[in-house]
Order: sequence, then structure tokens, then C-alpha cells
Amino acid sequence: MFSWDNPADRVAIAQMNSELQHAQLELLSAQCATHQLRLRYNIDDLARFSRRDVLRKSVQAATELSEYYSSIERKVPSAEAVTETFKPDEDVIVEAIRRVSAYLQEQRDHFFPKGALLSNHYKAVMWPYVSTAFLDRVRIVELEGRRVPNPPFYEQYRALGFVNLPEVTHMPSLTFIDVIVFNERLTERALFHGLVHAVQFEVLGLERYCDLFVRGFLNTRLHFSVPLEAHAFSLESKFADAKGNRFSVEDQVRLWARQSRY
Ligand SMILES: [Zn+2]
Repeated sequence: MFSWDNPADRVAIAQMNSELQHAQLELLSAQCATHQLRLRYNIDDLARFSRRDVLRKSVQAATELSEYYSSIERKVPSAEAVTETFKPDEDVIVEAIRRVSAYLQEQRDHFFPKGALLSNHYKAVMWPYVSTAFLDRVRIVELEGRRVPNPPFYEQYRALGFVNLPEVTHMPSLTFIDVIVFNERLTERALFHGLVHAVQFEVLGLERYCDLFVRGFLNTRLHFSVPLEAHAFSLESKFADAKGNRFSVEDQVRLWARQSRY
């Protein structure tokens, strides 16, 4: 078993989490596809008219996945289950939102002067999805192996009972308003993901973004399930396997904001 105290294990744990994140992303696409099916057809028609072999394989895959993930969930230490009932007071939540917002603004101001504008190559790759006017303003910073440390207030909030705080250090990229910082090197996929967040900041504004993020996190307890994040991952997944299907990130984000899906 891994141990946090062994440096080699810490790398392996980060790798394991990145693979889990990948699996979660793929599951989210499967969930989206199934949701479409659910919206469009009633289950009696599916039961009667669907191809038996395809249906059987889908049921089998879903059942196996459910059994596998439930077996992991059953092993999650009971101490953590206790914190599931953790419900901070509204003034604690408001203060947390203020701290996150101040942190993002500070990081943005720190990295902005070091940031480079996007090259023409990246603008050309991202243009069909994000408007030129937006791409002209965004700045990027590649840390090439150095990593952004976790925010200074994490320890205090962990002590208050906030668990599973997003591990900033392990993320491929971080978006500080209009500056995207890459913990390692820039990849097109990580750049796209960062741009989705930058558009979310633009459409929602810093205060609203932080409010939705903190409250979303307290609801789901998982960074990847916060709607702001889930949307970024699902658009990223569409971008990664776009078969010439172009879509506008700005339109998608505005739609979600209008429909209060964040
Ligand atoms: Zn993200």
C-alpha cells in the first residue's frame, strides 16, 4: 500500500489520481450520452426496440462499474464519512468565498506581468471554440516542473472540517481569472480546459464564480463534481474527440449561466 511519507509513493499517488481523473472524465461522457438517451426515449421503447447485444453490453458495463466503485467506496475510512455531515455556518461560507476570491486575484496579479500572449499557432487551434477577441487577451505561464503550492489558508480550512480540498499542486493547469498557469508544460487539452475557466470568469465575474465554486464544493465534496469543473471537463472531452464538430465555449458557458446550471 502507498504511504504519504514515501516520496516515490507521493508521485505514484499523483499518477493514480490523474488516472482516476481520466476515468472520471470518460464516465462523465458516458453519463452525458445516457442522459440524452433518457431525455429522448422512454424506457419501454428502449426495452422493446433496442438492439439486444448493444443493450446487454451497456448493462454489463454499467453494472461492473457500479460494483467496482462501490467496493472502493465501502473502504473509505469511516472518519471521512463523519465529515460528510459537516455543514459550515453561512458566515464561514461567506468568509471562505472571500478568501478564495482574494487568493485568485492575488495569483492573477502575481502571474499576469510574467504571462505571455498566446502564439498564433495556439490561437488557430482554439479559435473555432473561443473568440479571437478573448484569445487576444488571455495570458499563459509555463512553470515547467515548478508547481503552484496549495493556497495558504488550506490548513486552517482542513482543521475546520473542509476535506478533499482540490490539490492545486497536482492540477495540470490553473486559471487565475485571465491568466492560465501550467504546472508542467502546456498541452492543447490543458489549455482548452483553462480557457473554459477563463470564459467562466469572464461571464460570471470573480465574485459569482467563487460563490458558485465554494457552494458547489460544499454540496458535492468533490472538486471534479462542482458544476463549474464538471462543465470544463465535459467540454474538454468534446474538444479532445471533436470530429470537426465546432462549438462555442462562450455560448455554452452563457447557456449554463442563464439556466442556473452552475
Ligand atoms: Zn478545471
